[in-house]
Amino acid sequence: MEKPALPVTPMGHALKAHAKAAVELAQMKKNLLLLAHLMNWETAKCGGCGLPILRVKYPSGKVVPYDPDATPHFSTCPEAALIRKEQRKCHGR
Ligand SMILES: [Zn+2]
Repeated sequence: MEKPALPVTPMGHALKAHAKAAVELAQMKKNLLLLAHLMNWETAKCGGCGLPILRVKYPSGKVVPYDPDATPHFSTCPEAALIRKEQRKCHGR
């Protein structure tokens, strides 16, 4: 049984792939937001700063707050430390 060989990627293609990946990352962010709407999610207010957020519940049970534009709220919230503390409380172990 022969496994299919991995494609050999010349250096120039690798750089192009990098640029493409950056674009795809932005696209993924958009997709994530769309996915969030399909998945278990709810709108809420941040307990720290009071801004509206989306709370997305992943199948793993992890809940991650996002800004309405799909930026993780941790990276924009002035009270991020507070949220983390709150989350730890919720896990209650
Ligand atoms: Zn906040």
